[in-house]
Amino acid sequence: MPMIRIIQMIKDFIDDTKIENILDKAKNPAPERVREIIAKAEELKGLTPEEVAVLLQTEDDELIALIWQAAHKIKEDIYGNRLVLFAPLYVANLCANNCLYCGFRRDNMELNRVALTMDQIAKEVQVLEREGHKRLLMLCGEHPSRSSLEYFMEAIETAYSVKTEHGGEIRRINVEIAPLEVDEYKQLKKTGIGTVVLFQETYHHETYKVMHPSGPKKDYAKRLTAMHRAQEGGINDVGIGALFGLYDYKFEVLGLLFHALQLEQDCGVGPHTMSVPRLEPAFNAPAAIKPPHPVSDHDFKKLVAIIRMAVPYTGMILSTRENPSLRSEVFALGISQISAGSRTNPGGYQEDSSDAFRAAQFNLGDTRTLDEVILDITEHGHIPSFCTACYRLGRTGKDFMDLAKPGLIQKFCQSNALFSFKEYLFDYASTATREAGEKLIQKILDEKFKTKRKKMVCDRLQKIEDGARDVYI
Ligand code: SAM
Ligand code: SF4
Repeated sequence: MPMIRIIQMIKDFIDDTKIENILDKAKNPAPERVREIIAKAEELKGLTPEEVAVLLQTEDDELIALIWQAAHKIKEDIYGNRLVLFAPLYVANLCANNCLYCGFRRDNMELNRVALTMDQIAKEVQVLEREGHKRLLMLCGEHPSRSSLEYFMEAIETAYSVKTEHGGEIRRINVEIAPLEVDEYKQLKKTGIGTVVLFQETYHHETYKVMHPSGPKKDYAKRLTAMHRAQEGGINDVGIGALFGLYDYKFEVLGLLFHALQLEQDCGVGPHTMSVPRLEPAFNAPAAIKPPHPVSDHDFKKLVAIIRMAVPYTGMILSTRENPSLRSEVFALGISQISAGSRTNPGGYQEDSSDAFRAAQFNLGDTRTLDEVILDITEHGHIPSFCTACYRLGRTGKDFMDLAKPGLIQKFCQSNALFSFKEYLFDYASTATREAGEKLIQKILDEKFKTKRKKMVCDRLQKIEDGARDVYI
């Protein structure tokens, strides 16, 4: 059946009772069953909801340590030691919704409301480019006039048009905005965006209803089916996520998995990324100040590892909501993309205001600069990557997955990560970061590249030293 007809028919596909039953049945799993599922996950074929439920219901610390080990191995096998870096860019914080966990909620009368002008957006982008960023995630609240689709598309065009010294430019903008219709996604695609990201927040219907008391976001099904509409509108890479802390994390992980499976079944490809935001305190947001189902660090590590095992080829995104030490731990368990040097208040990159919290969406757990984050991850052996090659060469959606699954994408990614890292080191890094980075590049070249490929990579790295920019294969 053509995709268009399927999308028109698509309805709410999350069955709460089914998820609860799967979780109930998996309680107190036998250790042999857990080990069997871990072994299956290591074959990189993904897991069924029933298998995922068994891992989620595992509470034995020795078995959980095995889950962490397996997730680490899968992350290394598929993503190597790369971490893709991006910065969020909040352009407006006006919102017609009233999400109980968000500082931008309509009833927060004390929030400083801002919709940046195009000139202000250009200035924000200049700051980010001068720090070395190449990838943005652009976001705003949901407001019919002050954050319309036209405004948002103009903001994207503005951001792409900003060029600074050393070839500073934004090469990929991903977006996170309220659900759209198919025709609107088609228009959005024309601006040259990468991934469209949308979090369901909670897959649990009753909790969703309580958390979203008014505004267009009340409509659970409209939000749930938005990524299907995006695919139909030609957006090949879509990202999903759940806001952990609103409901039982085990339920949310299965919700994410059912969402991914439904996309794969209906659109031929699952989500490009999954995000794992955890509730942070936010200004005048009751559910964020006292999360209804707080997720401990231990459970957070467990859920990241289980997602990595369940959907090995789906990128996983971690934001600066988390603090540096926890971030470091979960990188090894399956995270492939991270934000760094973030601000969640519109205009936050230009101003260093002590009053920023009054315009911000939520508090940050990691407030380090991009250079500090890069130095830290480099010292832990991860290669920071600003690569945007796949999306610019059309390796997206199903084409990307077809290359990723037999391991072919690795060939491109590893080299491209080194090229984009080298550019960063040359143009933007502090002396300490540059020294650590050059050492890491040399180590990777010696350990991971064989003669012919090593020569190709070394030649291109030399070209970058000689002034070439935006080098990728
Ligand atoms: N307004 C759009 C929406 O709701 O989808 C755009 C994205 S909103 C600016 C980005 C995301 O921030 C939300 O989907 C939500 O998951 C997350 N968020 C809101 N309040 C948060 C909080 N207190 N802590 C952590 N994440 C939060
Ligand atoms: Fe608005 Fe999004 Fe915040 Fe909800 S999460 S209040 S929709 S900005």
